[in-house]
Amino acid sequence: MKCLVLGAAAGGGFPQWNCGCRNCALARAGDPTARPRSQASVALRGRGGQWMIIGASPDLRAQILANPELAPPAGTRNSPIGAVVLVSADVDGIAGVLTLREQHAFRLYAPAKILQLLQENGVFAALDPALVERTELPPGAAVQTPMGLTLTLLEMPGKTPLYQEVRSAAAPEPAPTYAARIEAGGRVCVVAPGCAEITEAVLTQLADADLLFFDGTLFTDTEMIDAGLSWKTSRRMGHVPVSGADGSLARLASLRARKIYFHINNSNPMLLENSAERAAVTAAGFEVSHDGMGVEL
Ligand SMILES: [Zn+2]
Repeated sequence: MKCLVLGAAAGGGFPQWNCGCRNCALARAGDPTARPRSQASVALRGRGGQWMIIGASPDLRAQILANPELAPPAGTRNSPIGAVVLVSADVDGIAGVLTLREQHAFRLYAPAKILQLLQENGVFAALDPALVERTELPPGAAVQTPMGLTLTLLEMPGKTPLYQEVRSAAAPEPAPTYAARIEAGGRVCVVAPGCAEITEAVLTQLADADLLFFDGTLFTDTEMIDAGLSWKTSRRMGHVPVSGADGSLARLASLRARKIYFHINNSNPMLLENSAERAAVTAAGFEVSHDGMGVEL
């Protein structure tokens, strides 16, 4: 199984179009320690060179163009993208499917709630149901895909998508978000762009992973507040911070998987290759992903 990071940043990307924070300013200036990143997506190659895309961000078109392995063979109109898996109903998790509307047949896998959301929003009718077969993924049930990858939806603690929230609420309505577990040839990869809290149930679900792409949205719980960018804590945004006693660095340390952060917000200091935060992450045995990063599993 080959895994390819199409986008390593959280919603908004890096740099974010309307953000002049220190990180974004460095990325915009072309500083080599602040490599730009597009919004979160990971692709996995299955049987016959077919690719499964986990997470469809608004950057999906540019991500496909940036990765020659996802290009149609010359002389054909036939993309090697055979499946798209939606694990988050946030805009940066679903909007990219609209890019894939040019008469290409593929399978769309998602939990019932996300399929319902697509059904209710007329713009997604642009994906012809005769070509794009929608398959419901019940959490915890292993689904065999035609490309030989076994797909299981894992439930993670989360919250309702931002656009469905009561904006003034101090605490968001808790709602599950999801990770995708992909198994092939006895090897397991888990892609988890959002996780509000690392509970024992989460650790159990991640225990047998060989490779883990995990939510690296914010470094500290108060990062957005400290930077004057928002009033929300990391947990209020539905993302466990990297640092702290209950942070992902500490809580995931005992997992045997190769651990790679993705879905990283532009404010996160670990994006900067020469930062103390990056050094701490590296010292703990974790990696910080970038667009185009490939991992053979
Ligand atoms: Zn920024």
